[in-house]
Amino acid sequence: MNIPVLLYHKIVNDNEKADDNFSISVSTFKNQIEYLKNKNYVTISLNELLNFLFSKIKLPKKCIIITFDDSYKNILTIAKPILDNVGFKATVFVVSKSIGLYNFWDNPDEQRKVPCLDKNELLSLIKSGWDIGSHSLTHAHLLKITEDKIIKEIYGSKFDLEQTLKTDIVSFAYPFGEYNNKIREFVIKAGYKLGFSIISPALTVTGDPILIRRILIKKSDSFEDFKRKISFWYLLYRGVMKK
Ligand SMILES: [Zn+2]
Repeated sequence: MNIPVLLYHKIVNDNEKADDNFSISVSTFKNQIEYLKNKNYVTISLNELLNFLFSKIKLPKKCIIITFDDSYKNILTIAKPILDNVGFKATVFVVSKSIGLYNFWDNPDEQRKVPCLDKNELLSLIKSGWDIGSHSLTHAHLLKITEDKIIKEIYGSKFDLEQTLKTDIVSFAYPFGEYNNKIREFVIKAGYKLGFSIISPALTVTGDPILIRRILIKKSDSFEDFKRKISFWYLLYRGVMKK
């Protein structure tokens, strides 16, 4: 079985000028979500995925997982109402040092600062059935830092988020999708059960729970691209091509 796992970052108002490829306009996002709803997809939580992977508890036939990296405020203000409208839930991967702050890892100038969700907003997402995972401590390039720092990024963010949100953090999204064998091992040792990247050697979502491939949704994607990206054949193709 394969399950499309979508990766979004920012959802922005249609008139907002964004120069990056990760800011999806609200009308595009709405079209994509309505398409999924019309195609009878249902979103599943990471717990449901875990129960399926480790306890073989059945999932709905047409399920999908929606994830957001970097925990921007616009997830709550813009994306969530659209998802609520069709009864969809999602997962947010949080850079633990950015709670209530902004995307400091981009070194943005004043205009490019994007506010991140604060503690109470994250708690409200949990309360409404959304999942929260770790996206490291500082959004570091894990391939470019020392082993000590890698451990801090992986373990420290789990600890911080669990302390702050009083919930178990069992999933990790690799910053920039970067990993290697050592990083993967640390993620397992830290107690995470699920790891999310963009590229993975695993053929399907069941192949390697610590290296789940996600479909990166970009601003440059046309509606046809979106439909193609969630199709069975595209997932199979990416699994075989390992990209
Ligand atoms: Zn990120």
